[in-house]
Amino acid sequence: MSEYVPEKLRSLVIARASHCCEYCLMHDSDLIFSGHIDHIISLKHEGPTEAGNLAYSCLVCNVNKGTDVASYLREEDEYYPLFHPRRDNWHEHFYLQEGRIIAKTKIGEVTVRILQFNRTDRVQRRLLLEKVGRYPGK
Ligand SMILES: [Zn+2]
Repeated sequence: MSEYVPEKLRSLVIARASHCCEYCLMHDSDLIFSGHIDHIISLKHEGPTEAGNLAYSCLVCNVNKGTDVASYLREEDEYYPLFHPRRDNWHEHFYLQEGRIIAKTKIGEVTVRILQFNRTDRVQRRLLLEKVGRYPGK
């Protein structure tokens, strides 16, 4: 579900993110499809269309996240929220290793799985961009 995001707000979100997906850190100049304005807490869950609830996201992260706000870890029998770019620090929840995004926390773990950070094609693309100094984007 999407909602019109006024141009001024779109520009603010993209500039604040330095034109990088706030989930996988891919710069928008390296994206095949243009980035999206993500409602971190989706409209379905009554997330508002305001700067504090918006993040810049690549299409792949955005589509995989959908309207999800949390996920379940079977081995813990517990729910954890997805990474929240406005409240959480990326480096506290993830680190990079040979093109893969590795979780440091349970929030990181559910986010890596739901957003499919380490799908083979995504890892290969990151490795190529890393070699030429273009990844992470910021
Ligand atoms: Zn992304």
